[in-house]
Amino acid sequence: MKVWNGKSVYNGIVMGPAVVWKKQDCQVTCTKITDPEAEVSRVETAIAQSKAQLLELYEKALAEVGESDAMIFMVHQMMLEDQMYLDSVYNLIRAEQVNAEYAVSVTGESLAEMFASMDDEYMSARAADMKDVSDRLVRNLVGYESSDLKQMEPSIIIADDLTPSETVQMDKSKVLAFVTVHGSSNSHTAILARTMNIPALVGVPLELDEIENGIVVIVDGYNGTMTMEPSEELIAATEKKIDEDCNKKKLLQDLKGKDNVTLDGVHIDIFANIGDTSDVDQVLEYDAGGIGLFRSEFLYLGRDTFPSEEEQFEAYKKVLQAMGDKKVIIRTLDIGADKRADYFGLEKEENPALGYRAIRICLKQPDIFCTQLRALFRAAVYGNLSIMYPMITSTDEVEQIYQIVEEVKEELTKEDLLFKIPEQGIMIETPAAVMISDELAEMVDFFSIGTNDLTQYTLAIDRQNPKLDEFYDPHHKAILRMLKMVVDNAHKAGKWVGICGELAADLSMTKTFVRMGVDELSVAPSMVLNVRKNVREMTAGC
Ligand code: PEP
Ligand code: MG
Repeated sequence: MKVWNGKSVYNGIVMGPAVVWKKQDCQVTCTKITDPEAEVSRVETAIAQSKAQLLELYEKALAEVGESDAMIFMVHQMMLEDQMYLDSVYNLIRAEQVNAEYAVSVTGESLAEMFASMDDEYMSARAADMKDVSDRLVRNLVGYESSDLKQMEPSIIIADDLTPSETVQMDKSKVLAFVTVHGSSNSHTAILARTMNIPALVGVPLELDEIENGIVVIVDGYNGTMTMEPSEELIAATEKKIDEDCNKKKLLQDLKGKDNVTLDGVHIDIFANIGDTSDVDQVLEYDAGGIGLFRSEFLYLGRDTFPSEEEQFEAYKKVLQAMGDKKVIIRTLDIGADKRADYFGLEKEENPALGYRAIRICLKQPDIFCTQLRALFRAAVYGNLSIMYPMITSTDEVEQIYQIVEEVKEELTKEDLLFKIPEQGIMIETPAAVMISDELAEMVDFFSIGTNDLTQYTLAIDRQNPKLDEFYDPHHKAILRMLKMVVDNAHKAGKWVGICGELAADLSMTKTFVRMGVDELSVAPSMVLNVRKNVREMTAGC
């Protein structure tokens, strides 16, 4: 039996087989070789192997999703036959005497950069394809097998680190828990674990090579431990703990259908945060009053191309219809920082959290924004939609947004399409937005406070950096004063205000928030009933 300690980002306890998650990209190093022709012939073999895989993917996609989506695998096969690409790889091997993996990787990167810098939208989107093709070739050269969850029974995923785009691609029904060596408890991967309602540990000092796939492990989110090959006694104790957990959850079930009202009659809305249309089942299961944050950017992750207007429209419509007359707040695209998709062609930045992200991308690349707004406005007809804009720092940004909204409205009217302009709010997650919240409140229908980023920007602490977890303090007086200021400014202008950052689910804060006058708390679906319990057991005293 071997035990490791880590930082728990979500409570719960599970036992199951371990699966070591392999990264899709593998690290390539440059080595000098003496036989270039042998390297050229390795590339030729890897190309044949890649083409066979792509043909298989094409046939599978053709049967499952149709010709137009399957075509991309044909395009990738054609890229592998491109003489300019092949010549660059072979020339590099022969001229520089370097290994095949390195030559393929460097050529892929420089061609991807060349595509990304082209003005033509179609050509710049090929940058991601180029990267995909060369990554496949490298994986085949290295003999790398990536993890495939489809084939496995529900398992505990153990990884060095996980990006949000890796996490969204996983089949949730196959994941019992996450354990990572790196990663911060404030990252989006941790947030996704909470939404998925599964235990998760970060900062566990594991040697991944020591973990055998299939070996039984216990992940205990209550005490932050992972145990490999547990003893009979621990297995029995764990089974008991799992039962107790189940019973506690059953007790909370009695709160379903009850109001979120304090002993002295103050009501607060308790909504849920989601990242995927499939999370709606949990929202309904835990009886949330609505969806307070649908992170729409997750629709853009784990894929190779932008989701089309139709695809987005169907996704939003599905959520709205499932929620009936309950409010659904969809946040417009908040891509960038840790949420990255190659096809956006975003450049590497020194400080991505302070960089080109969220509303900044939408205002600079209005085509992307307009497509999403069109889909949202059309979907609004099917339910009770509100939308909100992330990372706002100025009134000028809100004015620019409204101008784009007007243009989209005119377009849709001209095209005679059915649509509705929903309630429009903003996220308050920068200190700048807090300080001008009196002015912003006059311009919008509501505020939703993003305490995750607000803490990061106010305390100057990178939420992604696990070394700083102990300094990342959303209870800091500065944050609490900011929350009060935002609530008061919203109410002065007659607007409602919610909190959708992770702090909303902090049960030690429920009383403070209700007493402050917060109108809505939006939390992971599985936390809705816990917060309701707290509200029903307190007095607001106002
Ligand atoms: C926040 O910053 O608090 C928030 C809700 O947005 P995200 O965590 O997606 O950045
Ligand atoms: Mg945020």
